[in-house]
Amino acid sequence: MLLTITMTGKNTQDLGYLLHKNPYRAQSFDLSFGKAYVFYPELSDKKTTVALLLDIDPIDLARGKVGSKDGGLFDYVNDRPYVASSFMSTALVKVFGTAMSGKCTKRQELADTPLDLEVCVHMLPCRGSDSLAEEIFEPLGYEVKTKSSILDEKFPEWGESAYIDLTLTGKVKLSELLNHLYVLIPVFDKQKHYYVSEDEIDKLLKHGEGWLSGHPARNKIIRRYFDMRKSYANKAIGRLLEAEGETGEDAEPESSKTETGEKKTPLNQLRMEAVKNAVLKSGASSVIDLGCGECKLTALLLQEQQIKKVTAADVSVRTLEKAKKRLHYDRMMPYKKNKLTLMQASLTYKDPRFSGYDTACVIEVIEHLDPQRIPSFEKSVFEYAVPKTVIITTPNKDYNVLYETMENGELRHTDHRFEWTREEFKSWTEHICSTFGYIVEISEIGNRDETYGSPTQMGVFTKCV
Ligand code: SAH
Repeated sequence: MLLTITMTGKNTQDLGYLLHKNPYRAQSFDLSFGKAYVFYPELSDKKTTVALLLDIDPIDLARGKVGSKDGGLFDYVNDRPYVASSFMSTALVKVFGTAMSGKCTKRQELADTPLDLEVCVHMLPCRGSDSLAEEIFEPLGYEVKTKSSILDEKFPEWGESAYIDLTLTGKVKLSELLNHLYVLIPVFDKQKHYYVSEDEIDKLLKHGEGWLSGHPARNKIIRRYFDMRKSYANKAIGRLLEAEGETGEDAEPESSKTETGEKKTPLNQLRMEAVKNAVLKSGASSVIDLGCGECKLTALLLQEQQIKKVTAADVSVRTLEKAKKRLHYDRMMPYKKNKLTLMQASLTYKDPRFSGYDTACVIEVIEHLDPQRIPSFEKSVFEYAVPKTVIITTPNKDYNVLYETMENGELRHTDHRFEWTREEFKSWTEHICSTFGYIVEISEIGNRDETYGSPTQMGVFTKCV
């Protein structure tokens, strides 16, 4: 079982410092399931490769000491000594634990710098999905190459082997790369060689810090990581959502479960998906998120290949600070960070920094503006900034009667200055179109009631040419 990490660029022998492993000496480490060897097959100023080789003891395996599934033939005939699996994750922590924690006493600045790294994971089990490697690693900013081979050349009808050689290339901190591998190798293999207890949730969240919660395949990763232990997977997902405060700002009033008893997707999530889809449909490659709040939409847009530039603006500095934390701005992958600008700005003032974007999003913001400031907002967006597309969402006041916990006439949030019925929103959009030369398409987001419509209304304005 072999894994290699190659650093290219300048002074690449520094990889030895970062890993705390002397490049001039091959080393071996005793593990409970065999031995790990670390050596450097290539060492120069411009390119250095370190190899981690695992030698799993098949006798221990056969005796059921480690990795045993259920006794029987599996303990004698299996792929365990040859494939990348949880054995590799355990070895990574044992052998490169300090590097994984991001610490390097002698060269901390190096540990904090994204480097040109390439990792090859040999024999990664990849049953069931050809594109799993791309789905899992591309959002983290890696270029992904996979190589599969024919199972047996003498029997081409047997098809391809279920194992791939995976190569990932990217500009990442070494600690990030190691943590990605620690979590994600077992996502492919699924079969853990040790007893999985609840402590595993803490381990996953520790190694997934800063990247797992925002990963588009987060739930799939967590479910595969825990394989059969669904309750642990649900707990881990729950803890991530809690830490993010997904139910925090502008949370909708309590709504009941559906008639069939299953839990509904939160409205906020439906809204973000609907807006993201509208942005993509508009053909935008640059977007400004006006009144971005904690950047939930911005975070989604940053993950999209189509979107090359996202600016998130809010009037509140405190909110922007929270957004930075939520986005893990300090540790953000460079490919995302380069797309992003955060700025403090008020959307009721003409601001040249709002110009030049394909699409502007104003999501659940207008109802926070004093009604007498609405005309300034209109001018700032539709007259001065003039994006090709403007996407606006706001609560549908008609729907409020369906919220059991709301008093009659109460608004959904204490900071809302008003809420519009569908009729009021429609007539406002018509005023915008005739004044500023746009056409609008109105749609509804969330569970639809025949009489009162959906909880959120969305207008997609397109500039007339
Ligand atoms: N769009 C985000 C946040 C909605 S909450 C989301 O959907 O999650 C409303 C946000 O609008 C708050 O973050 C608030 O600070 C911001 N806001 C209110 N008035 C503003 C103004 N005049 N200019 C810019 N942002 C404003």
